[in-house]
Amino acid sequence: MCNDMHSTIKNAMTVDVEDYFHVAAFAKDICPDDWGKIESRVERNTKRILEIFAVQNLKATFFVLGWVAERYPELVRSIAEHGHEIACHGYSHQLIYEQTPEVFREETLRAKNILEDITGTCVCGYRAASYSITEKSKWALDILSEAGFTYDSSIFPVHHDRYGMPGTPKQPHALKVSNGMSLVEFPLSTIKLFGYVLPVAGGGYFRLYPYWFTRYALSKINSSKESFVFYLHPWEVDPEQPRIRTNLLSRFRHYNNLDKCERRLSKLIKNFKFATMSAVLNEMELL
Ligand SMILES: [Zn+2]
Repeated sequence: MCNDMHSTIKNAMTVDVEDYFHVAAFAKDICPDDWGKIESRVERNTKRILEIFAVQNLKATFFVLGWVAERYPELVRSIAEHGHEIACHGYSHQLIYEQTPEVFREETLRAKNILEDITGTCVCGYRAASYSITEKSKWALDILSEAGFTYDSSIFPVHHDRYGMPGTPKQPHALKVSNGMSLVEFPLSTIKLFGYVLPVAGGGYFRLYPYWFTRYALSKINSSKESFVFYLHPWEVDPEQPRIRTNLLSRFRHYNNLDKCERRLSKLIKNFKFATMSAVLNEMELL
């Protein structure tokens, strides 16, 4: 049925390195001041993902939260030593459209500097917390290029209550930023089915859809000679994580099918070819 096993197209594998309590779904339940007092599981969960990727010798891009990098520099070094690309997931995991440009600039540079001090290399990729670059916060793209980032992967071309820029291009492309500098955007992957644009890029969607559907959707993208981007969080391979008391929707989004995720991920990386986001964009001659 699927021709994905034979596809030579490389796709971008990405991991947003944050802890289970950083997610926007719990923002009303957990105050950032309390993050340091909660049991952290980001190290063990990220190491598990490194082991899973090592089986296929897969190299990925890890968008690391500055807050995590500051507390676990050894973890960042270990990711880099495994041959993966280190990129930036901001510092505090706040929604960009709720920040001022000044606060965003300050904390993005802070996160970039922390990561560059640890790795000793330039960190040139960025992903916003909860894909929060939307029509309201497009100014963030100018700030990213001024800060020295060469690519961004924060725009989700779908309708959603927390993120999304419906109608924007689906494929990686060069953005025109107002300061005359350049920035490449790798939007989160979608497919069009029965007239609807469906997100198929990973995370909660990967846990929600049966594996056969994800495989079908991603094969459809590769069969059009296009690359997709896949994303996952370390807490998504941790069904034992402490449960947070929250509302029904957030509970569903965060805890649905956590126990199936690792098995599905192992299948996915056998069925498709992956590389770092920089490598994929380089191959497309966009970087
Ligand atoms: Zn995140």
